[in-house]
Amino acid sequence: IERTLVLVKPDGVARGLTGTILARVEAKGYRLVDLRQLVPGRELLAEHYAEHEGRPFYEPLLEFMASGPVVAAVFEGHRVIEGFRSLAGATDPTTAAPGTIRGDFGRDWGLAVQQNLVHGSDSPESAAREIGIWFGA
Ligand code: ATP
Repeated sequence: IERTLVLVKPDGVARGLTGTILARVEAKGYRLVDLRQLVPGRELLAEHYAEHEGRPFYEPLLEFMASGPVVAAVFEGHRVIEGFRSLAGATDPTTAAPGTIRGDFGRDWGLAVQQNLVHGSDSPESAAREIGIWFGA
């Protein structure tokens, strides 16, 4: 069965949306298999966002992600990777479709990084890699 890593980013946790967000994923029918809250260190974040190193938003992104608690969750189910990305909506919360997590709860705050509430793995390979990073092998 497929698994994905879901992160409730610091904006989502700070706004008290953790329960709402996880409830939407469970209500869709996916099974929560692991869960933890932590303030991620720079090393963990550099590993997680390795593909973005050098991009203009990379440093602000790491700073934002280290700014407070993040909730990391593993969800399981047939096509959960695609299913969660559909629930999350487009990267830009301003234009993410209503009905999605980012579309319903997100907006642009005019900052250097899109504070878009959640992250979800984008392939089985990234899911395996990211679950290893956030939960250990
Ligand atoms: P999605 O794949 O749905 O777009 P993602 O989280 O995988 O979401 P990435 O493109 O991997 O998005 O970018 C990682 C994160 O970096 C985004 O979620 C967002 O917080 C931030 N980000 C991405 N692009 C920009 C940008 N152009 N300006 C500011 N922040 C950005």
